[in-house]
Amino acid sequence: MKKQKLLIIVLFQNLAGENRFDFAKSPAPPLSGALLAGLTPPIVDIELLHEMVRPIDYNTDADIVALSFMDYCFEHAKEVSRKFRELGKTVIAGGRYATNFPDKVIPYFNSTVIGEAEGIWEKVVYDAVSGRLEKSYKAPVLKSLAGIPAPRYDLIESDFAMPVVTEATRGCPFTCSYCQLNITPMPYRKRPVADVINDLKSASSLPFHKRKFAMLLDNNLGGDRKYAKELLKEIAKLKLWGLGVQFSFDCLQDDEFVDLLAEANCRMAFIGMESISEQSLASVHKKQNKVEEYKELFMKLKKRGILVFAGLMLALDEDTKEYYDSLIDKLEDVDPAAILTSLSIPIPGTAFHKTVSEEGRIVDDELSHYEGDHLVIIPKKVTPKEVFDAYRNVNESFYSVKNTLRRVYRLVKAQLGYDNVIRRTINIMVSSLILIKLSVFQKDHAVKKVYPLYKEYFGKEPKEVKADRFEFSHSFTIF
Ligand code: SF4
Repeated sequence: MKKQKLLIIVLFQNLAGENRFDFAKSPAPPLSGALLAGLTPPIVDIELLHEMVRPIDYNTDADIVALSFMDYCFEHAKEVSRKFRELGKTVIAGGRYATNFPDKVIPYFNSTVIGEAEGIWEKVVYDAVSGRLEKSYKAPVLKSLAGIPAPRYDLIESDFAMPVVTEATRGCPFTCSYCQLNITPMPYRKRPVADVINDLKSASSLPFHKRKFAMLLDNNLGGDRKYAKELLKEIAKLKLWGLGVQFSFDCLQDDEFVDLLAEANCRMAFIGMESISEQSLASVHKKQNKVEEYKELFMKLKKRGILVFAGLMLALDEDTKEYYDSLIDKLEDVDPAAILTSLSIPIPGTAFHKTVSEEGRIVDDELSHYEGDHLVIIPKKVTPKEVFDAYRNVNESFYSVKNTLRRVYRLVKAQLGYDNVIRRTINIMVSSLILIKLSVFQKDHAVKKVYPLYKEYFGKEPKEVKADRFEFSHSFTIF
């Protein structure tokens, strides 16, 4: 009998309009789709589709469709589900939003997986194939992350330059008030080092050059430093050409951790810097970040050819006009290689959402706008216009060609004298290339996705808007 087909779709809704796929591409895919494919029993054929790089084809011959989506894609997921269900497909939802808010999700899908897929996905697939699918499945909390199969890298679209993605840990020991991880807190858990290494070696179907780069998409790789060091020592033996990781700022105080990153050929570290104001950091309980240490600790990475990709959040409650006016100079001083600028998001269920909601400062509850580009709250100490001006000024300045080249220069200069000549030369080439690519991508995102909101919010192009007052087009006025 012919096998049924499962189509796994990782949704990505880009709200900027028509040419959405030409700038939605990131070098690495999210992990969820390939991970779910790896967990799927071989009783079905599988296709994996990342909406970041290609549109959904509703003419698919798939029988079952599994949708993975973030909070802000929920409305989109409902629409995609409706279309597939009208075509007679069985649609299953899963992911963090479905886990946190199952009652909101369940009505719109044939079935919903609540919790981590590992404990339940095999049963869901068997039930779907045999026509016994239940309306929802609650997965048990996994005490151990041992034995999770490797992601199916072979199913990832060739558009992704770095398809080898995996995770070593889940959770985070910190309690930042805006963080989604703290809606349903879970203990910090680690996978066996051997399992992670096995993942990184499981990409044999990919072209050689793609196998030599990998991303660990942990929320915080450094939540257990001892474990992270053990893992990095093993990764170093793989002799990758480049590794990308994400960890909290406090890890940079640990010299051995930073040295081991370099030995594992880490070329990019994403760090949630979020603000260069102690007051703004305190307002979201980001106690692990120390503004006065940014410059020195970022330099540790730069010297080793590891570029700092730093999150920067605007519209935090303690942000002031004076802070925004000083932001470009502060960034120049602490010198991250690239920044991911976003506007604060009051994700439902978080402490930050509770605060702004109780204070009546939520002005837009359309979940699809909770992606970091829209301003959905009334800021406390700045006007919305000042937030958008800061966003634009920072991006225009930071990602100008001149300043991007200056950052490349500083990154190269910092590495002089570190490591042997051959390794240093390779490091410089790889890290400079990543810096330029990241900068182009981030600037592109700002110009195509966020700047058009000026027109939507203020009814005018950025330069025409006066600073003292503005009106949202969503029928309310803020001074
Ligand atoms: S450090 Fe990052 S992952 Fe951890 S709680 Fe804060 S925002 Fe979340």
